[in-house]
Amino acid sequence: MSRSLSRSSRMLGGLWGAVAGDALGVPVEFSSRAERDRDPVTGVRGFGTYNQPPGTWSDDSSLLLCTVLSLTEQRLDLTDLGQRFVRYLTQAYLTPHGRVFDVGTATMQAIERLRSGVAPEQAGGTSVRDNGNGSLMRILPVALRFASESPEQLVAIAHRVSRLTHGHPRSQLGCGYLCLLVAQLLSGLPPRLAYEQTNQLVRSLYRDAPWRDELPVFARLLSGQIETLPREAVSGSGYVISTLEASVYLLLRSSSYEQAVLAAINLGEDTDTTACVTGGLAGVWFGEAAIPSDWLTGLARRSELDAWFSAFVSVVEQSDS
Ligand SMILES: [Mg+2]
Repeated sequence: MSRSLSRSSRMLGGLWGAVAGDALGVPVEFSSRAERDRDPVTGVRGFGTYNQPPGTWSDDSSLLLCTVLSLTEQRLDLTDLGQRFVRYLTQAYLTPHGRVFDVGTATMQAIERLRSGVAPEQAGGTSVRDNGNGSLMRILPVALRFASESPEQLVAIAHRVSRLTHGHPRSQLGCGYLCLLVAQLLSGLPPRLAYEQTNQLVRSLYRDAPWRDELPVFARLLSGQIETLPREAVSGSGYVISTLEASVYLLLRSSSYEQAVLAAINLGEDTDTTACVTGGLAGVWFGEAAIPSDWLTGLARRSELDAWFSAFVSVVEQSDS
């Protein structure tokens, strides 16, 4: 039962769930919803948009892995994390096949700033146009690592980590929201209750400027009724709010990991990232064993992923105990 899983099964479920979702979405990234309605993704495919073999994950997972490895080796060292992002862009560090084939504009510009010596917390863009989902897609390890801290601490760390590539309050708040939700799920609270609890925390933690000016943008989430929206009202675009809304909507409406992730991909547009974020949430709730085994067998660098995730989970468990 999803209610009684161990924390380690939830953490591994989230990590594998994010990478497997990303890889499943890569071949159809940028396809329209009409295309997905005509030809829905129902399992592992390859090639397509970037002509990559099945099991190829994208920048989402590479930057998430930078975060996993940094948080395994250091408690929280933003300079170390920033240097790993630079190595990703310049040396194809933590890529599936030694090549960078997909990186968002805001992320690329921020990594260039990190490379030129800008301080990590100043590197991310801060204009309202810099609110793609590029920090949301890589924030999951922060949630897993610091879920046992107070909610205030957890969101403060999420904000700092967001700022390496995404410094606008909206992106920071999106990361804070996702981390609070993951922390609730990790403690075994079912999605509906975890969602309600997260909304309560967000309302109390983000009362003051600059956050309160952003709350209207989160209104559909904060209504407590996001799952009642018709599918046409939920977007698969690369906007941070779209991705956060879609992932929470699908978590609340799905009875399995597989159903949530396929529905995320079949929203169209930014399929890899919507599936990565949705897969992280659904993986935390349904656990590692709920991920279809053939989604995992073909993943690039699978044995290394296994070693990185195990080491990360042991560090988290040691520090939580
Ligand atoms: Mg991607």
